[in-house]
Amino acid sequence: MTRAQLLRLAVLAAALLALAPRAALAETAAVPHVAKKDRELADKRERAAKGPTPPVTRVGAKPAPLINVQHRWTGEWLAVAAAGPLPSSSLQVKLLRDHYTNQSTEMASRLLPAIIAAARHFRVARVEIVSAYRHPKYNLILRKKGHEVARDSEHTHGKAVDFRLPGITTERLAKWALGRRLGGVGTYLRSNFVHIDVGAVRRWAGE
Ligand SMILES: [Zn+2]
Repeated sequence: MTRAQLLRLAVLAAALLALAPRAALAETAAVPHVAKKDRELADKRERAAKGPTPPVTRVGAKPAPLINVQHRWTGEWLAVAAAGPLPSSSLQVKLLRDHYTNQSTEMASRLLPAIIAAARHFRVARVEIVSAYRHPKYNLILRKKGHEVARDSEHTHGKAVDFRLPGITTERLAKWALGRRLGGVGTYLRSNFVHIDVGAVRRWAGE
């Protein structure tokens, strides 16, 4: 390569270098330059201004109907998806505890499913628990007060629940319960509730 050729090459390279930044600027001129860090900060501020993110729901999907199981004495309630899985046994035990002594016991696993099945059958969204687990101490107090309570009630073993479905007559609910043949069914017309237990299949009418 001659000296003249080298010189020409150097001039060409210098010209290209001078052009290159201008070309790059021309391409990005329309977009204001924002540092990545600044953009992230701006996004963060925007999210904070909007408040907490709402729970994600699927667009186009109807929310699953719920059955609210409420304990009459504690006022506590448990929402159960009408077509979904049942709440954990620990939640069931807590809801169905003895309100008087605040004691709980393991509940027969077939009780809550039967109650939910009743609510589904009658298409109601609420179940009222009148009595579930009864600590022997509380059972004795009820007996002494003259209530219709058996000495060795299934309630004291976590094997019985008294409940009602608002809007459904006690007769209809009792008839449905008898058809299930889960165990004992007591119909309490005046007090407006049905007793179900997982003991021997039997029936009686109470006050
Ligand atoms: Zn009962």
